[in-house]
Amino acid sequence: MSEAAGEKDLVELGQRYLYPNYRQPAFVLSHGRGSELWDTQGRRYLDFYAGIAVSALGHAHPALARALADQASKLVHVANYFYNEPNVRLAARLCQLSGLDRAFFCNSGTEAIEACLKLARRHFFSQGQPERLRVVAFHNSFHGRTLGALAATGQDKYKEGFGALPNVSHVAYGDLAAVRAVMGPDVAAILVEPIQGEGGVLPAPPGFLAALRRLADEHGALLIADEIQTGVGRTGAFLASTLDDVKPDVVALAKGLGGGVPIGAMLCREALSQALPPGSHGSTFGGNALASRAALAVLETLEEEQLLKAASTLGEHLQLGLRGLQERYPTKVATVRGRGLLQALVLADSVDARAVMTKLQAEGLLVTIAGGQALRYSPPLVVRSTEIDEALAITERVLKAS
Ligand SMILES: *Cc1c(COP(=O)(O)O)cnc(C)c1O
Repeated sequence: MSEAAGEKDLVELGQRYLYPNYRQPAFVLSHGRGSELWDTQGRRYLDFYAGIAVSALGHAHPALARALADQASKLVHVANYFYNEPNVRLAARLCQLSGLDRAFFCNSGTEAIEACLKLARRHFFSQGQPERLRVVAFHNSFHGRTLGALAATGQDKYKEGFGALPNVSHVAYGDLAAVRAVMGPDVAAILVEPIQGEGGVLPAPPGFLAALRRLADEHGALLIADEIQTGVGRTGAFLASTLDDVKPDVVALAKGLGGGVPIGAMLCREALSQALPPGSHGSTFGGNALASRAALAVLETLEEEQLLKAASTLGEHLQLGLRGLQERYPTKVATVRGRGLLQALVLADSVDARAVMTKLQAEGLLVTIAGGQALRYSPPLVVRSTEIDEALAITERVLKAS
C-alpha cells in the first residue's frame, strides 16, 4: 500500500475487500492526539466515542506509546506456558484495584464473559452441583457475540439466525421481583451490567445491584458484574459496582483496560480459584507481554493523571451541558442519563438518531448510537473541559437544524 493512496482509493479497498458486516462512512481515520482525530484528508474530529469507550487515554498518549515501544523491543509474546513480567504485575495491580483475588486474561470483552460463564458452571461442577448451569441475565443487556456471551445477551437483534443457544433466563433490568421469581437451585450466576451500555446507557436503579448481591447469596449463586464498558474508571470509580457498594464474585473487564490494545480480564474471589484447573480453560494470546504492558501503562496513567476524579467531574460537566440541550430542545431530546464519562443524550422517538449522528460526523464530532435512540458520549478520560464545550456546541448546532 503506497503512502500516497488517497481517501477514495482506501475507501474503495475497504468496500471491495473488508467483510461487509459494518457500515463505515466514506473517510479514513489516520491519526489522533488526546481526544482529537484526523482523517487522511486532514479533517479534524472530536472523538467522543473513543473507539466504543476503549481509548481511555485518548490517542497517542506518550505513556502508552513509550510503554508499547519499549515492550515491543524486549518481548511481545511467550504464551501462558511461562510467566511474563508485565502480566504478573498487571494481575497484582488489578486485584489490588478491584478488591478481588485472581485474574485471568483474554483478548476481548466477549472472551472475558465466556471465562466468567465457564468459571461459574465449572465451579459448581467441582462443588458437586453439576445441575447449576443456568444463568440469570437481563433484557436489553449486551454481553458479547461469541455463542455463550450471545446467549446471555438480552437483545434478540444480535441473536437472529444463530440457532440454539445455552439456556439463560432474561428478566427486566431493575425488576427485583422478576429476578426472585426465576431464581432456583439450578442457577449458577446472575450476570449484570452496572449500567447497560449498548442497551442505551441505562444505569441500574439505586440499590438494585446490592439487592442482586443479597439474592445471589440467598440462593448460593454467583454475582457476575459485566464491567467491560463501565470499568477501568469510566464512571468515576475503578469499578462502577463499587459506586453502589457492591462486591461481585466475578468481574469482566476489557474495553478501556488496554487503552486500545486488545486485552480482556476475568477477576474473581479466591474461593473460585480451583474452578478452572490447568487445562480446563485458556487463551494463546491472553495476557501477552505487550497487551499487559499496555494495560499497566493505562492503570499507571489513571493514577498519575487522577483520571477517575476527572471522569467524575468532567462527567458532571458533560451531563449538565446535555441537560441544558434537553431544556432548550424539549421536543427533540427525551432525556439525559449516565454516570461519569458514559453519558447519553436520548433523542425523542420522532427524531432519526442515525441521521443526527451522521450530521454530527460531518460537523466533526464522533459519537455512537446505543439502544436505538441514545447518542452515547464516551470520550477519552483525558478529555478537556473545553473539548466537552466544543462537543456540546456542535450538538446544539445540529439539533437546532434537525
Ligand atoms: C463491548 C461489550 C462487550 C463485548 O466486548 P467485545 O470486546 O466487543 O467482545 C461485552 N459486554 C459489554 C457490557 C460491552 O460493552
